[in-house]
Amino acid sequence: MTRETVIVLDFGGQYNQLIARRVRECNVYCEIYSYKTDLEKIKAMRPAGIIFTGGPNSASKEDSPSYTKEIFSLGIPILGICYGAQLMMHLLGGKVETAPVREYGKIKVTVDPHSALFKNVSEKTICWMSHNDYISKEAPGFQIVAHTPDCPVAAAEDISKKLYALQFHPEVLHTVEGKKILSNFVYNICVCSGDWKMDSFVEESIHAIRQKVGQGKVLCALSGGVDSSVAAVLLSKAVGSQLTCVFVDHGLLRKNEGDEVEAVFGPEGPYDLHFIRVNAQNRFYEKLQGVTEPEKKRKIIGEEFIRVFEEEAKKIGAVDYLVQGTIYPDVVESGLGGESAVIKSHHNVGGLPDYVDFREIIEPLRNLFKDEVRQAGLELGIPEYLVFRQPFPGPGLGIRIIGEVTAEKVQIVQEADAIWREEIAAAGLDKEIGQYFAALTNMRSVGVMGDERTYDYAIALRAVTTTDFMTAESAPIPWDVLEKTTNRIVNEVKHVNRVLYDCTGKPPGTIEFE
Ligand code: GLN
Repeated sequence: MTRETVIVLDFGGQYNQLIARRVRECNVYCEIYSYKTDLEKIKAMRPAGIIFTGGPNSASKEDSPSYTKEIFSLGIPILGICYGAQLMMHLLGGKVETAPVREYGKIKVTVDPHSALFKNVSEKTICWMSHNDYISKEAPGFQIVAHTPDCPVAAAEDISKKLYALQFHPEVLHTVEGKKILSNFVYNICVCSGDWKMDSFVEESIHAIRQKVGQGKVLCALSGGVDSSVAAVLLSKAVGSQLTCVFVDHGLLRKNEGDEVEAVFGPEGPYDLHFIRVNAQNRFYEKLQGVTEPEKKRKIIGEEFIRVFEEEAKKIGAVDYLVQGTIYPDVVESGLGGESAVIKSHHNVGGLPDYVDFREIIEPLRNLFKDEVRQAGLELGIPEYLVFRQPFPGPGLGIRIIGEVTAEKVQIVQEADAIWREEIAAAGLDKEIGQYFAALTNMRSVGVMGDERTYDYAIALRAVTTTDFMTAESAPIPWDVLEKTTNRIVNEVKHVNRVLYDCTGKPPGTIEFE
């Protein structure tokens, strides 16, 4: 490995992706590996530093995840976090026990500012704790450099061996000076130079893709979403018209979205590539006729998408490479990177069309987090409205229509959604709100318009604030914005006579409304 890298050794903690993200925010490249990874493999990677993550187990138990003690004598700086800290102490002769008082939440920690880890950190600093066990005795050779009233060893270090242990979690934002602590680790202790930057990533990738592809033909399924758009532009910059992009318009996109994608990637757009738009709207509507169950709708849309793509691929014939917009969280969540449980079998990893004749897959964004993909997109000159596009589900509006999907209902929800987005933007709220959209409830009710009885649909408006999309709160939209949006929707969108606002958080709701 030539690139300066810090390795995260995953012991099953919840925040492991966050650790890697924070390290990369320091401009140091970081990858996650399972604790089952061989020491020889790790040595061969020559990491600048290693971070042991937290985890659900008890370090002193026989069958808990562990690692060979040899790793501590390589001279590579190691930072143990929570379980990782406890394991380090346990393996090196300290003592880990059930804590008399478990700590959970924000806790004031007193740190020794002389420690390289706490350089420029306040002596009393709020940190996030989440542990049942604690280090009751530090291992020989270690100095205690932080404590709380209930936690005698909140941090310990053995400078001569470059080993550091933290009971709290510097990677979560609740640890007020956590970023500084991680930055101290990578810069002061691992002595990294910080050369991981997006412009160099883009340049290196273009070069590497060119080397690899040569004169070969490349095929990409373009959805118009952030990941596939960035992947497509990267490829087009590398190999130009050797790239063909197939864009399947399934008729479940937001208002004007199909044309927007075409404007950017089509013949009128700035990129040199072959663009094929398949207008498959009616195929999808036919397949969805009479189907009301959300999981079934998702499945039908996913399968039909692959069929349409395959048919196009057959027309194109054999290609050398197929591009996938896989990103790093997909890799980790599919259980390929770290140790955390397989959360979902991701559509980007493994769910390949059967009949596409290709030699190899290219996943140019495989090592990037979402915010890094966006940065790469900006670096590549992709328009901001595409780069900062909200997450949009693959099955599109198909799952924002409760009950049966029809062309008419798609149009209703498209119009209402466009108005909602316009009003949110006009109120200047679009940057604050994580995600917002309109959904069509399957409810019809009586209303009155122009003295006439109506019997029409209710639109549900959704807007949530979230930092990570794992949890979310319903956004407190000012009343006048809701009022104006409601008036416009009822007046401008046919077959809608009522507008509802969804006040549910996640949990217990989900962000999508299906
Ligand atoms: N399971 C260990 C404890 O309860 C470590 C917890 C953690 O890593 N967050 O103390």
